[in-house]
Amino acid sequence: MTLDRSTMWPYDEHGEKGEYSYARDRTPTVVAAEDALGELEGGSALLFPSGAGATTALVLSQLRPGDTIALAAGCYYGTGVLFETLERWGLHHVEFDQTGPPPDGVQLVWLEAPSNPFLTMPDLEAAAAHPAPVVVDSTAATPVHLRPLEHGADFVVHSATKYLGGHHDVLLGAVVCRDPAAAEALHLFRTRTGIVAAPDPAWLLLRGLKTLEVRVRRQTESAAVIAERLRSHPAVSVVRHPGIGGMISFDVADEAAARRVETATRLIVNATSLGGTTSTMESRRRWEGDRVPGGLLRLSVGLEDPDAVWADLAQALDTTL
Ligand SMILES: *Cc1c(COP(=O)(O)O)cnc(C)c1O
Repeated sequence: MTLDRSTMWPYDEHGEKGEYSYARDRTPTVVAAEDALGELEGGSALLFPSGAGATTALVLSQLRPGDTIALAAGCYYGTGVLFETLERWGLHHVEFDQTGPPPDGVQLVWLEAPSNPFLTMPDLEAAAAHPAPVVVDSTAATPVHLRPLEHGADFVVHSATKYLGGHHDVLLGAVVCRDPAAAEALHLFRTRTGIVAAPDPAWLLLRGLKTLEVRVRRQTESAAVIAERLRSHPAVSVVRHPGIGGMISFDVADEAAARRVETATRLIVNATSLGGTTSTMESRRRWEGDRVPGGLLRLSVGLEDPDAVWADLAQALDTTL
């Protein structure tokens, strides 16, 4: 796929519009990436400029003022903050424990597989039995480990900034729809509102998807090894890893200990975000406040030698003993 940055394409010899005419509607590079992702998830994919942009477009297109979203408690902090921001337009949300059934009287169910940073898995069967449409933010699971549309979800959301892009160099989001008619409606909403992904990040996503499976399988394997070793380290109290994906969260004594650990690593980069080739780790208290334990550290395991990642982490943890 060559990268096509055009914003317009000529009409045909009869003056009629072809498949591509104006970039806000569709562009070939973005469509190629959407086709590739749609195939991986088993649905119709649409790209957005970021994961948050995908979330915004999806809820605004699906809901109306007065509607309520049932949001998985302990899921990605930014999603709750975004829904809080939309409260002013009459969009409400209530939190619930996604390991059980969603509450009655809501118009959309929002799950996360697994939740970031608490790493719980949703009860997809219980959610599918709910009358409201079900969204699964599957950023951390990726289609390598889970295809939510096969478990009754109506929409899958991705921050493609994370595993799908995979190299910490692309900001992008996606919605994958089970129903092609829903995808068409969302596409129309996207064209009208202009929350449209550009060709350059889409091209980087296409490159990232080529190695998605080998990257994610390796990251899952390495994360399982590191989670196991963390469980027997004396400075660590709780370790969370759902057995899939490269994301781990674990607790050290308190906020000060977490700060010492995150600033003492050499190989693991002390930075936010996750899902890239390089391991990243940060204390989540700085973003999420009291919602997370003060000593909670979130580690995204990259593609380095897992023994080297562990050696780095162990020496950083040892500084707190
Ligand atoms: C990062 C993230 C988002 C937001 O995506 P952006 O690309 O940063 O806008 C949404 N959900 C999850 C689970 C994330 O990790």
